[in-house]
Amino acid sequence: CLRKIHQRNRVLNAFVHVSPEQAVTEQAVAASQRQNSGTPLSPLDGSAFAIKDNICTKDMVTSCSSSMLSDFSPEYDSTVVAKLKSAGAIIIGKTNMDEYGMGSHSTTGFHGPVKNPYSPRLSVYSAGGSSGGSAAAVAANLCFGALGSDTGGSVRLPASYCGIVGFKPSYGLLSRRGLVAYANSLDTIGIFTRDVRSAQLVFDCLNEHDPADPSSLNDHSRSKIKNQAIGSQPSTNQSRQWNIGVPIDYNVAEVSSPLKDAWISTLATLRDLGHHIKPVNVPSTRHAVSSYYIIALAEASSNLAKYDGVQFGPHATAAPKSANDISPSLQLIAAAREKGFGKEVRRRILLGNYSLTSEAMENYFIHAQRIRRLIKEDFDSLFSSPSPLNIQPERPSDSRDSVDFLISPVSISSAPSLEEVLKADGAGVDSYINDVFTVPASMAGLPAISIPVHGYEDLPIGLQVTAQYGDESRLLEVAQLIE
Ligand code: GLN
Repeated sequence: CLRKIHQRNRVLNAFVHVSPEQAVTEQAVAASQRQNSGTPLSPLDGSAFAIKDNICTKDMVTSCSSSMLSDFSPEYDSTVVAKLKSAGAIIIGKTNMDEYGMGSHSTTGFHGPVKNPYSPRLSVYSAGGSSGGSAAAVAANLCFGALGSDTGGSVRLPASYCGIVGFKPSYGLLSRRGLVAYANSLDTIGIFTRDVRSAQLVFDCLNEHDPADPSSLNDHSRSKIKNQAIGSQPSTNQSRQWNIGVPIDYNVAEVSSPLKDAWISTLATLRDLGHHIKPVNVPSTRHAVSSYYIIALAEASSNLAKYDGVQFGPHATAAPKSANDISPSLQLIAAAREKGFGKEVRRRILLGNYSLTSEAMENYFIHAQRIRRLIKEDFDSLFSSPSPLNIQPERPSDSRDSVDFLISPVSISSAPSLEEVLKADGAGVDSYINDVFTVPASMAGLPAISIPVHGYEDLPIGLQVTAQYGDESRLLEVAQLIE
């Protein structure tokens, strides 16, 4: 892996830090000894992992691709990293990303853009974002798997652009302890691998209650999920026939025709295998992007308030010109934040703060919360299994209309060229539309996976499968059918 990283990373810019060879060698030797003695620690023993640079790693910088944290070296491992290490995995390095996870092409960070390993006709394409470095590293075979974070699509989108599997489990299943927060109520650790079976192995290794993470799902709810999964197993000799929903609201004109073709041909294959394909409506998703960008930015403005140049970030000595009407200490904070944050992060802090002011709160933040509830209700009314988190008795869903999964595109097209993305930088909020298909599952906390299905002009395309909360076992089963 180290040799391959050395050969390719200068171009790809996927890794921003590679673990010292010494430590890697020691770990690899120890792992191979365990394997030789016939007792590997786990199925992941000895495999190399890359970690997105917003997930804390002891003794390795965790910069979130921000100048604000360029020299921040945490004193502890995040829970997910600690779990990988105790399973025998080797943490080989940290990967490039959009600053604090804000973006869709891994271009907003101070390390410069990530490049997609696919480069047909020598053009350079976006690797997607914000976890583009992790996706590119796995796609280029520089490591076995990688971790990323998915707040509104940051694992599924780069997986789709880079032609690999990107899995965002249900919110609360994988610990967020040690994940630098962008928007707490949406942030989810996600998994990149080259096939679904490997994603399952990583998920199984990390899927455990963490008392140190207040949003981690407790053991009681976990056993409800397990019982529900056992209850949905077909009896022996009975083959599975799933009801697969196709959200017709997602069939918008902007979806590229090769992507539509890939979507249709996957559905046709599933139908030929005996599954039922049903058109469904998810009407509230029309408002998902706008409400996502209110909620995510409001939470981000609060989360990022701690970066003031005192505990973290560059210490400023002179105030910016724009801040001469405020107190000297605030002037220094303003100067540190102007220096430490990139343009996109500053834009989002301003938008987030505005939506939380008394003038805007009702119209924006409260309204967005209502839409979030509607999105969740829309999904609940579609899925055949009830959410294990619902306390109120379920209204019985009509089995003729209900579905087990939804299949949709991940994005409106395959990866755009990097030049096009960098040129459109000024387009600002217009670029947020790219997240239209991924934010609904994030808003509802549902599991969703991006699976590579097709190559178009040598560029990969991903389809997304979404399931009810906690239904990862069936989600991964259907994903294996599609890949
Ligand atoms: N592109 C979305 C955003 O910029 C999603 C990012 C993410 O999931 N971290 O907010």
